[in-house]
Amino acid sequence: MESFGRSRDEPNVPRRTGTVDHRLLRENLIRNYRTGRVSKEEICDATEELLRVADNFGEDALKPCPICGAGNLVYVGFAFGARLPSSGQVVPNGVLLEDTVRSKEFDMYQVEVCKDCLWNHLVQKHVIGRD
Ligand SMILES: [Zn+2]
Repeated sequence: MESFGRSRDEPNVPRRTGTVDHRLLRENLIRNYRTGRVSKEEICDATEELLRVADNFGEDALKPCPICGAGNLVYVGFAFGARLPSSGQVVPNGVLLEDTVRSKEFDMYQVEVCKDCLWNHLVQKHVIGRD
């Protein structure tokens, strides 16, 4: 999974808003698991903290886990940015606080997490900036 917290928050350098979609990487990893190229232990490694956040703030993905088939798949959003009051802030249900959105530049990560088998993967990274 891509490392969280990496940010290009350089003052006076405008960042373009955009989305980096990680679905192809996700599908490739799932395919490698199903064909035995990677083990379940390698890909189902959600930390206690991620599970806690998933329990408290996860939004139902409305689809089964691609690894174990259970219905406990949720999306969790995190926002990172040098100018946020709290970098790494959890974004409940994908909704940022208004004061965060208004004048800040940050990256927002959407991660899917299975609370049964501990599968987790970055789904999308949204770069929020001023053009
Ligand atoms: Zn699962």
